[in-house]
Amino acid sequence: MQFIDPHIHMISRTTDDYQRMAYAQCYAISEPAFWAGFDRGTASGFHDYFRSLTDTEPKRAAQFHIKHYCWLCINAKEAENVSLARDVIALIPEFLKKPNVLGVGEIGLNKNTPNEAIVFQEHLDLAAKTNELILIHTPHLEDKYKGTRMIIDMLQNDKRITPQRVCVDHVEEHTVKLALDGGFWCGMTLYPTTKCTPARAVDILERYGTDRIMVNSAGDWGKSDPLAVPELIQEMKRRGHSAEVIKKVVFDNPLEFWRQSNNWKE
Ligand SMILES: [Zn+2]
Repeated sequence: MQFIDPHIHMISRTTDDYQRMAYAQCYAISEPAFWAGFDRGTASGFHDYFRSLTDTEPKRAAQFHIKHYCWLCINAKEAENVSLARDVIALIPEFLKKPNVLGVGEIGLNKNTPNEAIVFQEHLDLAAKTNELILIHTPHLEDKYKGTRMIIDMLQNDKRITPQRVCVDHVEEHTVKLALDGGFWCGMTLYPTTKCTPARAVDILERYGTDRIMVNSAGDWGKSDPLAVPELIQEMKRRGHSAEVIKKVVFDNPLEFWRQSNNWKE
């Protein structure tokens, strides 16, 4: 079955991973701007990273007939330095018109600090002014429920933000309802052992349904698996879910969300 991985950090992945994903029928991916394996000291380091996301990675993916999209921001992990973050946010508009850019992300909180919240709101301001889609990172480190609550409050306090144009990612059993009840899209990140395993994700789908929900592998610098979405497909098949329902989760839903993007071309 063809699938989309809407959240995978290919900067941390080898070309062999692209090949394996292609063999597993990966149709398209989106790569949110995040940590690049080390803390960058200057805004120009992020400028180079944005060039990689909008130019290098799409070309690398195209070798395997995988469509590559991306999101731009300074991630919460490196956003503690507000002045650096402002310099990076100022670079984003130059890249928003690149054809593979879907919006602003993954923005959010890491340790739920006041500086992270300031930088988060300045990203929201940029997204509102430019009418971009938003991809949200909810914290793994500190209290996920508290961080998700803080993020949703900030989103709802900004009346310019339309929930249907926001995806709240890394939801788990205790945060999925917050996102869905607010009218947001949500993403579940499938990790081999920590966070949400494929089996837990299918439990969540069975409990909360398949509207406005998608799954991804993260494929990041930690232990992660770029074939996690095919693994979820296998688990859904094993439990007797129909091909139509599975396709909705792993293909139709991310596409429906992305189609709202300003740069979208069918
Ligand atoms: Zn990520």
